[in-house]
Amino acid sequence: MATPLTDADKRKQISVRGVAPLEGVDDIKEAFNRHLHFTLVKDRNVATSDDFYSALAHTVKDNMVGRWIRTQQYYYEKDPKRVYYLSLEFYMGRTLTNTMVNLGIQEQCDEAMYQLGLNIEELEEQEEDAGLGNGGLGRLAACFLDSMATLGLAAYGYGIRYEYGIFNQRIHDGWQTEEPDDWLRNGCVWERARPEYAVAVHFFGSVQNENGDWQKPSKWRNTQAVIALPYDTPTPGYGNNVVNTMRLWSARATRGFNLNLFNTGDYIQSVFDRNIAENISKVLYPNDNFFEGKELRLKQEYFVVCATLQDIVRRYKSSKFGCRDSVRTQFDQFHEKVAIQLNDTHPALAIPELIRLLVDVEEVPFDQAFEITKKTCAYTNHTVLPEALERWPVKMLENMLPRHLQIIYLINARHLKDVAKVFPNDSSKLREMSLIEEDGEKRVNMAYLAIIIIDDTFKNFYEMSCRLGETNKWQNKTNGITPRRWLLLCNPSLAQAITDKIGDDWHLDLTKLRQLEEFASDKSFIRQIAQIKQENKERLATWLSQSQGVKIDSKAMFDIHVKRIHEYKRQLLNALHMVHLYNEIKNNPDKEFTPRVIMVGGKAAPGYHTAKKIIKLINSIADIVNNDPLVGDRLKIVYINNYRVSTAEKVTPACDLSEQISTAGTEASGTGNMKFMLNGALTIGTLDGANVEMSEEMGGKNIFIFGMKVEDVEALDKKGYNPQDFYNASANLRRALDQIRAGLFSPKQPDLFSGFVDDLLKWDRFKVCADFDAYIAKQEEVSELYKDEDEWTRQCIMNVAAAGKFSSDRTIHDYATEIWGCEPSPGQRIPGPADAHP
Ligand code: PLP
Repeated sequence: MATPLTDADKRKQISVRGVAPLEGVDDIKEAFNRHLHFTLVKDRNVATSDDFYSALAHTVKDNMVGRWIRTQQYYYEKDPKRVYYLSLEFYMGRTLTNTMVNLGIQEQCDEAMYQLGLNIEELEEQEEDAGLGNGGLGRLAACFLDSMATLGLAAYGYGIRYEYGIFNQRIHDGWQTEEPDDWLRNGCVWERARPEYAVAVHFFGSVQNENGDWQKPSKWRNTQAVIALPYDTPTPGYGNNVVNTMRLWSARATRGFNLNLFNTGDYIQSVFDRNIAENISKVLYPNDNFFEGKELRLKQEYFVVCATLQDIVRRYKSSKFGCRDSVRTQFDQFHEKVAIQLNDTHPALAIPELIRLLVDVEEVPFDQAFEITKKTCAYTNHTVLPEALERWPVKMLENMLPRHLQIIYLINARHLKDVAKVFPNDSSKLREMSLIEEDGEKRVNMAYLAIIIIDDTFKNFYEMSCRLGETNKWQNKTNGITPRRWLLLCNPSLAQAITDKIGDDWHLDLTKLRQLEEFASDKSFIRQIAQIKQENKERLATWLSQSQGVKIDSKAMFDIHVKRIHEYKRQLLNALHMVHLYNEIKNNPDKEFTPRVIMVGGKAAPGYHTAKKIIKLINSIADIVNNDPLVGDRLKIVYINNYRVSTAEKVTPACDLSEQISTAGTEASGTGNMKFMLNGALTIGTLDGANVEMSEEMGGKNIFIFGMKVEDVEALDKKGYNPQDFYNASANLRRALDQIRAGLFSPKQPDLFSGFVDDLLKWDRFKVCADFDAYIAKQEEVSELYKDEDEWTRQCIMNVAAAGKFSSDRTIHDYATEIWGCEPSPGQRIPGPADAHP
């Protein structure tokens, strides 16, 4: 008889050592079949496309989980500095294709599905977008996760698992309507709930200070608690075995929630009332660059911050994988093991919260807690628009987070002491720079609390840093996009053509694209690139015809303006250009004309009436232009419905002309501009945001820059801007505005846009009228160049060649080395699941 196994030996059988990894097409087919049967409980006769998608997604996930577990073990073994990216938004889009690309199994999966008689592209289309973001800021967070994993950083994304992401946009009679985005309806294959790491988050209540001293460890009592339940999603690096974690928190009522009602017998009501707590993670606020100041939003911000910091401190304390015992008990080295990056001020409560945890829970002296927090947290400012800056009413904070308000007051007192030292006898500086704004309702300025970035909005703060010799805390980091999703995934034929010329080193070092300059005038390469663009355009045309029923000529120039609808992004300027082109065709029907399809897409915040009117205006112009037989195929206007990450992947590779026309001084960066450049579109744009650096990377060539620069805008403001002057001076502008005002594009409701035009001529905040003539003139140059296909394509190639700087790998490299203090290791594989443990 065999000797009985010890408990330890029995446990050793709990292992995947004997389970063969998925290696080839046959393994993938087998795993797919097993998932269809065991996970989805379907056979081929009744399985839906969604079932087939899910079976494939589970199969691909199987390929990743071994690496995921192994990566996390590796971090516990090596104990590297952890980087935490805190964000209220992660605009991830779809995961399936990206995972296959990063794991290098796309071809095998494609072949396996083909052998099973399935079309992988159709299955990919089944996946819902994870639309947990509004626009650039949320998409940047998603690109950063890809780059952090690819650079081998021990990084985590922390956010909220909204049950409803950014709304779905429908267009009815030209107007935007919103539908809830029930993205979890069919479940999400990629996420994994981790109830064992749930934590409590407290709100309201009152504070008991020791001897009335706010700096002493204090007790926060009689609070209302909500449970934060984490859901983990893997974020794989590109070809390096690293799989990091994005942890999103979901709100749950506590077991005891509203027990009072229960005890008085109203059990049913007590169950209903659980929604109050659970509403915290119900829905993403759909504002881009706009502060709404709602109490529920403040709850969301504190919810993610509080749950995340508990998790960070827990992980800091334990050092062995799976070990929950406290190993580290001192916090003097906290900043050597932890870096926290705040994506805008949305998670800025992390600052008082970390101080609170250190002082009230860990009993670290206040001064030390303050220093640790300063060394651990960094903040990125994303906007210069004043309406976007978060300014929470003191009353709201006092009620919901009384202890945090005390800590904010303490921080402010120290800060004002510094201000008084640096600007002696200057009471206006004290007022201007206080974290607490005193005019009108008292408010806390969250940017002041979090401040780090150099910017005009914060010039007092920068000046103070100069005088204190602390300028190193002000850093400018050019944003970027991940070349995996935004080239390898979305434009595989262009990616292959590039690789055929220069090899594939560019996957991990995008500056290698410079080598393409050498081939920019090579006729056969030009023809190949033009051909790829043409095929991408045909694919987009087919998709638009199938999904929106619009027919376009794929030989025409695709002039594309996709991004959130915002006055500062000036979709209105584009609309005026459409009207101008229409007039040109009508007035000179026999003149040669470069055919264009102008596509505009993007969502307006549901409460942003002007933005919604701009959507209606564009659709109204489209209605008239597209149905005018005299126009024919020379001009078509398309509103791309429900623009989101998965739409961006279809639109970007098919673009000839990228519209980046915000008023100079309003767009902090933009990332849409970079995606188009990388995919070989030419840009028409102002010297605003990252357009400036795009132009620099090309030595000021191969880009259509027009209009006022920041200095011109400032000078015009100083002089006094009157849009009426520009209306009087420009016959083209006058004609277009008069036509819109008179109802040419809204015949059933002739005065629909009259007020809109009248208002613009009184108060044109973003200087559409002032830039109109320059825009029209530059568009004429665009039309002219487009006639010369070879020269146009040559310039497209020069754009791709100059796009290297705009990889988010470069951005993350700079953050890692200059802010977080950790060393990136691109291209370095860590041990995979099959590799032995040390
Ligand atoms: N929306 C989506 C779906 C995106 O993918 C992006 C950028 O990548 C943006 C918005 C931001 O675009 P922009 O920088 O042009 O505002």
